Amino acid sequence: MSISNQLKQRNGEMCELCNTQNANNAYTVSPKSDEQIENQVALCDTCFKAIDDTDASFHWRCLEGSIWNPEPSVQALSYRIMQHFKNEEWVSSVLNNVDLDENVVEWAMSAFQVADVHKDAFGNILENGDNVVLTQALNVKGTSFTASKGVVVKRIKLVHDNPEHIEGKINDQVIVILCKFVKKL
Ligand SMILES: [Zn+2]
Repeated sequence: MSISNQLKQRNGEMCELCNTQNANNAYTVSPKSDEQIENQVALCDTCFKAIDDTDASFHWRCLEGSIWNPEPSVQALSYRIMQHFKNEEWVSSVLNNVDLDENVVEWAMSAFQVADVHKDAFGNILENGDNVVLTQALNVKGTSFTASKGVVVKRIKLVHDNPEHIEGKINDQVIVILCKFVKKL
C-alpha cells in the first residue's frame, strides 16, 4: 500500500530494513491492522519484493542491522524474515545476540502459528460454554469416582494452551477431559 509521509519520515525516507534505498512502500506486519504506523514498516521496492521470495537470503544480511531498530514493527518483521534462514550461520549469531521483547517475538512468530482448534470425537469444533456428553467412561484421576459414558458435562471451558483438553464439572468437581472422549450436544 502507499506510504504515509509520517511513516516515510520515521527513517529519513530510507527503507527501514536495508537502510540504503528510498522507502516507497508501507508494509503492515500481520496480524495487526494498517491503521497505525506503529504496525508498519517502510520498505524499498527491493525489500518489499524479497519478502515473498524464500530464496532471497542473499538480500537479507541487512536484517543484522534492522533488528536493532527501535521500532517494534521493524524488529518483528526482521525477526520473522530471519526464521526462513535459521540454518545460516549469520542468522543464528544474530538471534543469539539480540534480546527482543517477548511481545515482539510473539508478534514475529504469530505468522507461523496454526490456529489451535478444540474438536470433539467427531471433529465438531468445541467452544467455551458448550455442553458435551462423554462418549466413554472415564476414570477421573485423583478422585474415587468414574464418570460413566453418557454423562452430560455442561458449559465446558477450553484449555487454552492445549487443544486436546477441555475442563468441565462432573459431580461438582472441575476436571480435565480429553476432547476425543466427548461429543458436542
Ligand atoms: Zn530495503
